[in-house]
Amino acid sequence: MRESAEDIVIVGAGETGARAAAALRENGWAGTVTLVGHEPRAPYERPPLSKAVMVAAEAPQPPYILSAERLRENDITLLTGCAVTRIDRAAHAVELADGRRLGYGRLLLATGCSARRLAVPGADPGRLHYLRTYDDALALREQLRPDRHVAIVGGGFIGLELAASARSRGCGVTLIEAGPRLLMRGVPADIAAAVAARHQAAGVTLKPGVGIERVEPAGTRQVLVLSDGSRVECDGIVVGIGAAPNTELAAHSGLAIDNGVAVDARLATADPDIFAAGDCCSFPHPLYDGRRIRLEAWRNAQDQGALAARNLLGAGEDYTAVPWFWSDQYELTLQIAGLPDAGVHTVARPLGDGVQLNFHLAADGRLVAASSIGPNAKIAKEIRVAEMLIARRAQPDANALAAPEVKLKSLL
Ligand code: NAP
Repeated sequence: MRESAEDIVIVGAGETGARAAAALRENGWAGTVTLVGHEPRAPYERPPLSKAVMVAAEAPQPPYILSAERLRENDITLLTGCAVTRIDRAAHAVELADGRRLGYGRLLLATGCSARRLAVPGADPGRLHYLRTYDDALALREQLRPDRHVAIVGGGFIGLELAASARSRGCGVTLIEAGPRLLMRGVPADIAAAVAARHQAAGVTLKPGVGIERVEPAGTRQVLVLSDGSRVECDGIVVGIGAAPNTELAAHSGLAIDNGVAVDARLATADPDIFAAGDCCSFPHPLYDGRRIRLEAWRNAQDQGALAARNLLGAGEDYTAVPWFWSDQYELTLQIAGLPDAGVHTVARPLGDGVQLNFHLAADGRLVAASSIGPNAKIAKEIRVAEMLIARRAQPDANALAAPEVKLKSLL
């Protein structure tokens, strides 16, 4: 077993872990970098799994982030198909399921999230689809055929992106959401209504406000029995009911958990040699009065991976990036910068052509979020400027925000 301050081990070979490994080299780290991942392949991008990978005529290769060549060039050791089972903090080592131990000088937890499981009577885990990995995506692709009907449980990002992909392949879709509307968490009601209308126009049957009572077999098909008594017969069931942070390793090693591995603004845990980043951690955000948040978002995974790498090397920088995420469904892009639920007033900016852009203001008039839906070309620039305003803690004039003739840039 190696045990040296020159060893950095990263647990989790997803977006965050891969980005951190590459960033260690970009920042001149000359010691070892070992990236440990559950999956049997090199790190790949997950956003295309619900979109491009579903709709491509032929199953594409995984969209690799770090190819074998790049791993070699950067002298990154990737251990695939490996589970870290324990952190021995006293000995500065991690234990792997196969009995190996790896010593570390510094350790990064980038363990991500796991899909929440649907636990109702009759639900046969072997007959439910979840989408987290490339292999999940390949299995699901086979279901999305014109002669099929799928039931999607959950009206969040997985469910909605998959519904759009399924419809574009001519597959029938019924989408069941337990909450009173789609995208309850973090997406304002008017944007969610625009999303719902677009899905209905595409032929998706939406069933909000109903739960799943049980699943019954029906030959090769299955039936979902809903809480309102209705029944949905389908060829396949896809479940996208949220994700939970993978915190077991950290918890068992005595690190604090608070809706994720609790880290400070530098992404450090209370153990000075252990950091956590990406979906698995919660951190205090300075733009939101130090409120502890956890983000399940691609850009956050990238940015925190890069920052964690710098801080593993002693940079001591705080994470201050404005939260941002996007979702592509049909020809529409939904983008949100900041945290809409931190706002108390909403100002709409009428842009025409079905494009919606909202600004969310705190009680003191500070811009805390912007949310938008429309063709990407029409909204991306506006959201980028909004991000800059949010980062600068701007208190823009509400009338100017509402007036499309006033250039947003002029408010910077
Ligand atoms: P999600 O976005 O949290 O949405 C899950 C939805 O399912 C919520 O609306 C939830 O309602 C609902 N739900 C929960 N339990 C249910 C039940 N028993 N029956 C019916 N509906 C139920 O999670 P997700 O769509 O599963 O996505 C998983 C992860 O992938 C997340 O980390 C997500 O951010 C990520 N992802 C992101 C993108 C993107 O950013 N574009 C795309 C795909 C996936 P409540 O809110 O009331 O619980």
